[in-house]
Amino acid sequence: MVTAVTDTPAAAFDPAICPRLVVKIGSSLLVDAAGAVRTQWLAGVVADLAQRRQQGQQIVIVSSGAIALGARRLGLDKGGRASLEDAQAAAAVGQVALAGVWEALLGAQGLTAAQVLLTLGDLEDRRRYLNVAATIARLLDLGALPVLNENDTVATTEIRFGDNDRLAARAAQAAGASGVILLSDVDGLYTANPANDPTARRLAVVKALTPEIEAMATGETRSGMGSGGMAAKLLAARMAGAAGIALAICDGRVERPLSHFADAGGGTLFLPPRTARGKKAWLAGRILVAGTISVDAGAAAALKRGASLLAAGVVRVDGRFRRGDVVAIAGPDGAVLGRGLAGYDADDAARIMGLRNEAQGPVLGYAPRAALVHADHLVLI
Ligand code: GLU
Repeated sequence: MVTAVTDTPAAAFDPAICPRLVVKIGSSLLVDAAGAVRTQWLAGVVADLAQRRQQGQQIVIVSSGAIALGARRLGLDKGGRASLEDAQAAAAVGQVALAGVWEALLGAQGLTAAQVLLTLGDLEDRRRYLNVAATIARLLDLGALPVLNENDTVATTEIRFGDNDRLAARAAQAAGASGVILLSDVDGLYTANPANDPTARRLAVVKALTPEIEAMATGETRSGMGSGGMAAKLLAARMAGAAGIALAICDGRVERPLSHFADAGGGTLFLPPRTARGKKAWLAGRILVAGTISVDAGAAAALKRGASLLAAGVVRVDGRFRRGDVVAIAGPDGAVLGRGLAGYDADDAARIMGLRNEAQGPVLGYAPRAALVHADHLVLI
């Protein structure tokens, strides 16, 4: 349905066509320069959310701000981001405050806040992901508003999302949402950085994340408070899109930003290119992979036609993966074409690469399987 939306990004998130919405709020909107919560502004957001709830829309909130809030309380410099230990400590202190703010503001509208803290692994491991999905579904059924954040206190550099943009996109999949709105301190994606290029213009709708579009983004944040910048937002858009979810970046600097978005427009809408569902959508959004299987041009073309990945077209196997692990599949130019569940351990995959099916048995010492990665367990990205 969202494909009918052309110039009015906000229409894709109308309660009538988007029954479940994820709203992400960035640190620089939630916390002022002195490290205090911008309560009045946030109360306006909550009023918007309450209105949407009345219109029948279920809402999941992804709230940043724990590190920024905790840094002030602990007297840490650089907004609590000088080191991982500082960020972890700041988050532990700030998250308590953040939860209190959400409970008070939602409570004032008669709504119930439910805190859900997630690590990357909670959404990368299929079983844990399904568990998170079930918990969010139950909370929504019970009428509560889940308020999500990364569990920064236990997350380490290697195993963290690091930015709540991607967390929001991933959580949207787990929540079965059809839309994600990233409230931000920018009002959308511009063709160039508007701060130093007067010809820069905002794109209202992005139908495909081409290399040209990606070149428009940088990793810098305007405030230095959050962590993602536009690059993380595009990654989030890609992740959401792969699961058939529309995502918008919208200006959060105004009062009642969601009403403003709905009434006055603005923002950038990323339309989902295709609608992968269930396990395939989860695979497409995976961040961690256990290895990479590189293929030749013939195999790359076959994959694009929907075929399974056969060992004959494999030119290289990297990583220490086990059968059933998620692996990336790279084309001849090194670009990742997709992800799938490995049909073999890395050692056996390396042994049979380049071999046709009939030649594999003697090398393996057992009857070969139909494919190295079966089409049912493979998703192109
Ligand atoms: N999880 C971080 C926090 O609550 C924010 C991450 C981000 O900047 O996106 O402070």
